[in-house]
Amino acid sequence: MSEMQQAPAPRGKKVRPPPRAAIVRAVERVTPEVMRITFGGPELATFQPPRPGAHIKLLFAPPGQTWPTGDPVKDAVRPPSRTYTPRRFNAEKAEIEVEFVLHGAGLASSWAEGARVGDRMLIGGPGGGYEPPEGIENLVIIADDSALPAAGMILEALPRGCASRVLCEVANPGEARPLSPSVASQPVWIYRTPVNAPPGVLLEAAVAALAPQPPNTWFWVACEAASMRRIRETLVSQLGFERSRIHTRGYWKAGDTNYPDHDYGAD
Ligand SMILES: Cc1cc2nc3c(=O)[nH]c(=O)nc-3n(C[C@H](O)[C@H](O)[C@H](O)COP(=O)(O)OP(=O)(O)OC[C@H]3O[C@@H](n4cnc5c(N)ncnc54)[C@H](O)[C@@H]3O)c2cc1C
Repeated sequence: MSEMQQAPAPRGKKVRPPPRAAIVRAVERVTPEVMRITFGGPELATFQPPRPGAHIKLLFAPPGQTWPTGDPVKDAVRPPSRTYTPRRFNAEKAEIEVEFVLHGAGLASSWAEGARVGDRMLIGGPGGGYEPPEGIENLVIIADDSALPAAGMILEALPRGCASRVLCEVANPGEARPLSPSVASQPVWIYRTPVNAPPGVLLEAAVAALAPQPPNTWFWVACEAASMRRIRETLVSQLGFERSRIHTRGYWKAGDTNYPDHDYGAD
């Protein structure tokens, strides 16, 4: 099915600012399966500093079509979009860094793999994000490769003295990397190879084997959507952690294209 959608007619709801035009300023292969792309341009000067783990919408030029304005009010059609993490925003330079997992066939993944300096993009947002709760003393972060940029932002936002434990599932040891240049962390790395485990399965097993945590522990979980639900269930039903202390989010879903960006796993 085509991803082009008719732009919804504006109603009396809050009007979001139109997406901002950006161009690719730098492309860096961070690991064999992660591409870091720096977007810049004068319109990014008004981008709001994102909250930890916030998201942006990348709007792609439809193949073979002229670039739309990105304004759903003006455009007859809305270009296809994907959700990503604004890993770093440099207000002085008006630049945003995004780290793309190169997972194979996918609009965004394929675009990132072939991106070049000068390529264009429309960027909507930022929105959402996770503020560490007041008085937090320990945060357990459970993430797959798609959520490592957000995990890094959240680590950087933790209050002084807050401990953290981080479980990260990636394809193989070549994908392990520091989550933050400024905050030291020693994630437990979980590799899908050599057993070629489906995404999430080994992460779920690691959560089930989690050691007891001190009081005032909170959880931030982001990964494949079905795994996210099983992890939430394990934390609550098997390990007895309080539901209200667990923030979960499905970042993508196996077999689904353009998975919705608001799956918090509450159902
Ligand atoms: C709040 C939020 C923040 C996110 N931040 C990031 C980020 O910073 N970096 C990042 O890489 N991703 C991030 N994601 C995930 C990203 O939005 C999805 O992976 C998205 O589906 C990628 O789009 P695509 O066009 O490449 O693939 P799609 O066209 O959406 O999907 C094509 C196929 O690829 C599969 N697929 C999609 N993603 C993955 C994956 N990661 N691994 C394996 N298979 C996959 C789908 O199941 C589908 O079968 C974020 C998601 C959310 C909700």
